[in-house]
Amino acid sequence: MKRLEERISQDGQVLSEHVLKVDRFLNHQIDPVLMQEIGKEFAARFANDGITKIVTIESSGIAPAVMAGLYLNVQVVFARKRKSLTLSEDLLTASVHSFTKNETNEISISKKYVHKDDRVLIIDDFLANGQAALGLIDIVKQSGAHVTGIGIVIEKSFQDGAAKLRQLGIRVESLARIAALTNGKVTFTHKQVEELV
Ligand code: 5GP
Repeated sequence: MKRLEERISQDGQVLSEHVLKVDRFLNHQIDPVLMQEIGKEFAARFANDGITKIVTIESSGIAPAVMAGLYLNVQVVFARKRKSLTLSEDLLTASVHSFTKNETNEISISKKYVHKDDRVLIIDDFLANGQAALGLIDIVKQSGAHVTGIGIVIEKSFQDGAAKLRQLGIRVESLARIAALTNGKVTFTHKQVEELV
């Protein structure tokens, strides 16, 4: 997605060879117009897949997921990272190690909101080593629902998350794919997935 790549080049800050900061439009301040375009793009890519629900993880997955939900006309559920007094009913849980925070969280969603006949689109802001996505897949599978695909705003293709997910036979659609973060610069890739493996 060209507009997203341009925005990353313009506003992204390369913190290291492994971490990109996009606090100016996605992870802290959020650009609603860009999120709307992102949602529209996810919806177009999964338009023919009979998606009935979107599942994401708090907090940075919520904005793109809600916009995709708007265009696909489905409800959006976000997994919580902390137990909450108001989230005490039957839960589906999984353990997720956070790439940026280097801590492990128990993530959970209520059984009430994902059912076995759902066709789920999982959405997240970044894909690095795939831990967040694998945790969400785990939760969706526990509900008996079908993981129809994964939508990622920014995939760091030099890390192994995308390959892991594709090895599971899951379709991954990433709107921007980064080949490298070297010398403070973002390099994108448009290669076919097979060429990268
Ligand atoms: P994974 O679970 O795939 O290893 O990492 C994905 C999660 O870690 C995302 O939910 C995202 O919040 C965070 N993350 C991973 N890499 C980056 C990065 O380079 N920048 C930012 N801002 N977040 C990242």
